[in-house]
Amino acid sequence: MKVTTDCWAPEWERIEEKVLRQHQLTRLQETLKQATKSPFYREKFRQAGLSFPKISHLEEIQQLPFTEKEDLRQSYPFGLVTVPLEKLVRLHASSGTTGKSTLIFHTKKDIDTWASLVARCLYMVGARPGDIFQNMMTYGLFTGGLGLHYGAEKIGLLVVPSGSGNTQKQIEFFRDIGTTLIHITPSYCLHLAQVVAEMELLPERDLKLRLAIMGAEPYSEATRKKLEKALNIKVYNCYGLSEMNGPGVAFECPFQHGLHLWEDHFFPEIIDPETGRVLPEGEEGELVLTTLQREGMPLIRYRTRDLTRFIRGICRCGRIHRRIERIKGRSDDMFIVKGVNIFPSQIETVLMEIPEVDANFLIIIDRKEGLDLLTVQVEIKQEYFRGDLQSLREIQEKIREKLKNTIIVNPMVELVEPGTIPPSTGKAKRVIDNRRL
Ligand SMILES: [Zn+2]
Repeated sequence: MKVTTDCWAPEWERIEEKVLRQHQLTRLQETLKQATKSPFYREKFRQAGLSFPKISHLEEIQQLPFTEKEDLRQSYPFGLVTVPLEKLVRLHASSGTTGKSTLIFHTKKDIDTWASLVARCLYMVGARPGDIFQNMMTYGLFTGGLGLHYGAEKIGLLVVPSGSGNTQKQIEFFRDIGTTLIHITPSYCLHLAQVVAEMELLPERDLKLRLAIMGAEPYSEATRKKLEKALNIKVYNCYGLSEMNGPGVAFECPFQHGLHLWEDHFFPEIIDPETGRVLPEGEEGELVLTTLQREGMPLIRYRTRDLTRFIRGICRCGRIHRRIERIKGRSDDMFIVKGVNIFPSQIETVLMEIPEVDANFLIIIDRKEGLDLLTVQVEIKQEYFRGDLQSLREIQEKIREKLKNTIIVNPMVELVEPGTIPPSTGKAKRVIDNRRL
C-alpha cells in the first residue's frame, strides 16, 4: 500500500515534542484565565480553594477538579459560557437519556478552529480536491453532520450534505455523481452494505467509493474488515464528542495504529475511573480532556467516560501527537449481567468474525425470578434460512459457544432473518435492558 504522509498543517502536525509541551503549557494557562470568566468555573475553583489556579508545569493540572457531564447539565444553559452572547455563533447539544441536554456554545473562532482540525484529519487519510464527499451523518444539534462539513469544504472537497437515512436514494447518488468518500456511523454502514448487496450492485464495478470515515459509536476491528470488504473501501476511525467540539479530536493516520489525538488543541489524561488518579502511560482507563484553544466555552479536565489507553512510541508517520487506542466503549455503555461487566463491543467483535452473521444484532437483558437473562438476537444471512433446521442449530450453537468464551456469561442466542431488527440510520441502539423498566 502506498502511504501518504502529507500534512494539511505541517507546522502543527510535525511540531517538535518540546515545542508542543511548551505550547500546551502556555495554552493551558490562557485557558484557565478564560475559564474563570464563567460563573461555573469561578465557583468550581473557589470550592477547590483556588481563587485563580496557577500552573507552571503541565503535571500540575492534576491538582485541578474534574468537570463532569452532570456539571454541564446543572449549569444549563449558559453557566459555562465565557464570552458575551454577541460573540457566540453556534450551539450544539448532546442528547441525554435523562434530564436536560448538554449544550456547547462556539464563537466564530471556535468554529473555524474546529474546521481546521477536521481538515487536518481528512487530508491525513488522503482526501483531496476532486473527491466527492457524501456526509451521511445526521445534521442538526448532533455534531456528526456539521462537524465534518466545514472541514471538508475547507480542503476543497465537493460536499454532499445528504444526512442519514433514505438509503436507496443515497446509493443512487453514489452511482450518479460518483461519490468517493463517505462519513457514516458503523451501524448505518452495515445497513448500507446490506442494501448495496440487495440492489445487486458490485462496489468495484458500480461504485467509486474509496474511503469511509467512521465514528460516533465504538466498533470493532472485525466490523471494519467486514465493511472494507463489502464496500471495497478503506475505513478510517474518527473520535470526538460534542463537549470537545465533535468529530476530529483524534483520527487515524494511514498507518492505522491508534488515533492521533491533536495535542495542540486538547490536553489528554487517562485516569482510573474509580479513584480519579492519572494512570501510568499505556494503562487502560478513562480519557479526560482539557480544551486548549476554545474561546466560548473552555472545559477543564472533562471526564469523557470513554475507555482507552495511550499507545507508546512515535508513529511511523512522524506525527508526535500521542495516539489513543480505539475506544473500547463508553463506561456508561457497559452493562452487568450476573455480576460480569460486559461491553456491547465485545459481543460485536465476536459476531462480526462469524461469516454467517449478517448486519445487525440486538442485546436484550431480562430478569426472571431474581436471575439475569442475556439474549442476543442475531441476523443471519438469508441463504442459511433456506437450509435445513439442523444447520441453523449448529450456527446457533457456534455463536453461543464463541460468545460464552469471550463474555463468560452463557447467553441465549436467537437467529433471525435479515431485516428483522430495525436497521440503524444514525447511532445504533444495541442494548435493551428490561431490568430498568
Ligand atoms: Zn501516524
